[in-house]
Amino acid sequence: MSAAPVIRLSGIGRSFAGDPPVTALHPTDLSVRQGEYLSVTGPSGSGKSTLLHLLGLLDTPSTGSYELDGIDTGGLRDRDRSTLRGRRIGFVFQSFHLLPHRTAEENVVLAQVYNRSPRAGRAEAAREALRLVGLGHRLDALPTTLSGGERQRVAIARALVNRPSLLLCDEPTGNLDSASAEAVLERFDELHAQGYTLVVITHDPNVAARAGRRVAIRDGVLAEPEAVR
Ligand code: ADP
Ligand code: MG
Repeated sequence: MSAAPVIRLSGIGRSFAGDPPVTALHPTDLSVRQGEYLSVTGPSGSGKSTLLHLLGLLDTPSTGSYELDGIDTGGLRDRDRSTLRGRRIGFVFQSFHLLPHRTAEENVVLAQVYNRSPRAGRAEAAREALRLVGLGHRLDALPTTLSGGERQRVAIARALVNRPSLLLCDEPTGNLDSASAEAVLERFDELHAQGYTLVVITHDPNVAARAGRRVAIRDGVLAEPEAVR
């Protein structure tokens, strides 16, 4: 296993052209080690999504460099970026993004199709991931028959099934009632205990408080106010 941090940002920044141009993220340094659980909080418009899109290889920086698992992502062609994203990053979004006419198991299987993993093991890997998030009894359920919290747990299983190096979560509890949110946060605690690296972007202080390391972002500037543990 490589000793490189999972994430190493060096002077990374993102501006958008316009009149006037917007600097959504000022040049930023950030390293996240394997197994860290990091939260990023900030008000609306502070640059959270901009940072998430850069970390998720969904956008390219205007300046600076990003190494993921020791791989410099700067020079990659689109196709290689997509492959790297599919293999090493799992996403959990606020609004689940499940396919409505597919069962829980099928939704998780499909994440492996895009990743071109061997066909034979896909269904069993999907079931294992769903069991891991406590949904072993709802494999055949359609998303419409699941609660919000259960849907988000399917999304977490989908994010995990390719065994990513990094789990990137954007307001993962934003659409959930507090009991469902708590269930999701407990899954994150378990994943953290298993050694997963988690980055959770949220405006909710209760969600941020679960992470061992917290950074705040304001007007495109990242600050690490306190090392909690
Ligand atoms: P947050 O997710 O914290 O609400 P964003 O990262 O979406 O914030 O946005 C940060 C700033 O960058 C905002 O001022 C926003 O208007 C601006 N911004 C984000 N994306 C674009 C874009 N594609 N074009 C122009 N400005 C953008
Ligand atoms: Mg946003």
